[in-house]
Amino acid sequence: MSDTYDVVIIGAGPAGYVAAIRAAQLGMSVACVNDWSDEKGKPSLGGTCLNVGCIPSKALLDSSERYSQAQHEFADHGIDITGVKLDLNKMLKRKDEIVTGLTQGIAGLFKANKITSIHGRGRLLANKQVEVTNPDSDTSKISGTNIIFAVGSVPIDIPPAPIDNELILDNAGALSIPVVPKKLGVIGAGVIGLELGSVWNRLGSEVTVFEALESFLPAVDVQLAREAQREFTKVQGMDIKLGTKVTSTKTSKDSVTVSFEDKSGAHEASFDRLIVAVGRRANTKNIASDDVGLKLDDRGFIEVDDNCATAIEGVWAIGDAVRGPMLAHKGSEEGVAVAERIAGQKPHLNYGVIPWVIYTHPEIAWVGITEQQAKEQELDYKTGFFPFAATGRALAMNVKGGRVKIITDASSDEILGVHILGPHASELVAEAVLAMEYKASAEDLARTVHAHPTLSEALHEAALAVDGRAIHKSN
Ligand code: NAD
Repeated sequence: MSDTYDVVIIGAGPAGYVAAIRAAQLGMSVACVNDWSDEKGKPSLGGTCLNVGCIPSKALLDSSERYSQAQHEFADHGIDITGVKLDLNKMLKRKDEIVTGLTQGIAGLFKANKITSIHGRGRLLANKQVEVTNPDSDTSKISGTNIIFAVGSVPIDIPPAPIDNELILDNAGALSIPVVPKKLGVIGAGVIGLELGSVWNRLGSEVTVFEALESFLPAVDVQLAREAQREFTKVQGMDIKLGTKVTSTKTSKDSVTVSFEDKSGAHEASFDRLIVAVGRRANTKNIASDDVGLKLDDRGFIEVDDNCATAIEGVWAIGDAVRGPMLAHKGSEEGVAVAERIAGQKPHLNYGVIPWVIYTHPEIAWVGITEQQAKEQELDYKTGFFPFAATGRALAMNVKGGRVKIITDASSDEILGVHILGPHASELVAEAVLAMEYKASAEDLARTVHAHPTLSEALHEAALAVDGRAIHKSN
């Protein structure tokens, strides 16, 4: 007889661990099976996000931004510092300590919520039994009245650039390069490529990014994407090669030669390290035995309905392994919703207002539709924009670029999209998300008092600009 729980969750990333905590809060007995091990082979909760994703990358983005400001911006403030030096070892150690603190924090939360944490790889068998294979390859079985798959995603490997995590790195390897590479290549100008490219660019690498698409950040509002591209290339010095196909790579003892093709023909370039960031795929290989009947789509995502239920009664799937954006907060909210649904509640999750953030400098954040989508959908829409440089707070912060743009329905004035390129865009977007969650109009935002002097005034002014009545710019 195996141990039986109300809920067995496979995966303890932001989707799985949040589902576990919410289910436990609702009085259910919960086991969470997770196979992540740290460098010492010890269990580490939190998945990609905490171990090798969102958190360590933000730690390095913050450290590298301070280093870059000390070198290039302090003088503008009248702060004269000479001999700024980088202690990369210490910077990487600080990042590792943040990761350890947070992953141990999840373990503490599991304990406090009486969640059974099991270290090993989970695989669903018939009758909602879960086979767990621990790191020593021993197997055991538990079962659940409900099963939640929260198995996350893994980096996509491309044949021309196989990851060796010595010279050719995935997102994990790119967070621990022991010496600043003189020349760094990056394949993919997506979220990871730009964030990690920015880190090493600020620390002194000469960064070249190879992007297959002709357009830069096609998911971002085109006006903001254009301004961001100019900033990353002309100001910050990254070489972003659009419309470029990497055809092969060759590694020697300490360098990688990349062969690539663009409109002008075939070329070669050599780098000290190469980061591959061409997207992620669902981590769904061998997660269930054939007799379970779990359905995957042709891209490997677990098939679920709008409520994250699979076709098998009592089996659910959430996070990166199912349709929708691969974002930690989307997975966490699905975790909450599924736990509440199992408990008989009717949770609410609005997929239309999930915020996106790219943590470059300046940050790019948005929610809702872009202007290009409004055009494609032939909507009758209005826009309002406001540059940060016209706010006192941004000037006081030495910020010279960036903007807020709001898209509204022309007849109802309901906000359809908000796009922010600028300082603290990741925080500012929360106001827009809340406004859209409550179906606010631009007029609602315009009539809301915003503190002065703050960056949020740019949002306020953009809302006023929709109606041609921004105060601090000509309309
Ligand atoms: P991505 O999909 O954001 O970007 C990958 C880029 O690589 C795309 O622009 C694509 O056109 C390009 N590409 C694909 N194949 C290529 C090739 N052979 N040669 C050159 N370019 C190629 O993927 P990512 O940056 O790897 O991130 C993976 C996932 O993780 C994304 O879904 C992202 O949402 C998520 N993520 C989010 C954040 C965040 O929210 N800030 C941070 C990191 C990752």
